[in-house]
Amino acid sequence: MKYQLACGDVMPGCAQTFDESDKDVLLGQVAEHAAAAHGITEITPEVLAAVDSKIRVTG
Ligand SMILES: [Zn+2]
Repeated sequence: MKYQLACGDVMPGCAQTFDESDKDVLLGQVAEHAAAAHGITEITPEVLAAVDSKIRVTG
């Protein structure tokens, strides 16, 4: 099982992509990236829902 997310699907114009076999790891990386690249330091339920809806599961 693979979890993939293109940040650009959530934040238009961002080229960062994520590809992890563990969803929690992926979400941790997204949180770090959101803070570093987008100034989003608080992952609200709305942000999490937006991110979660864009995660593609393969495998
Ligand atoms: Zn981004």
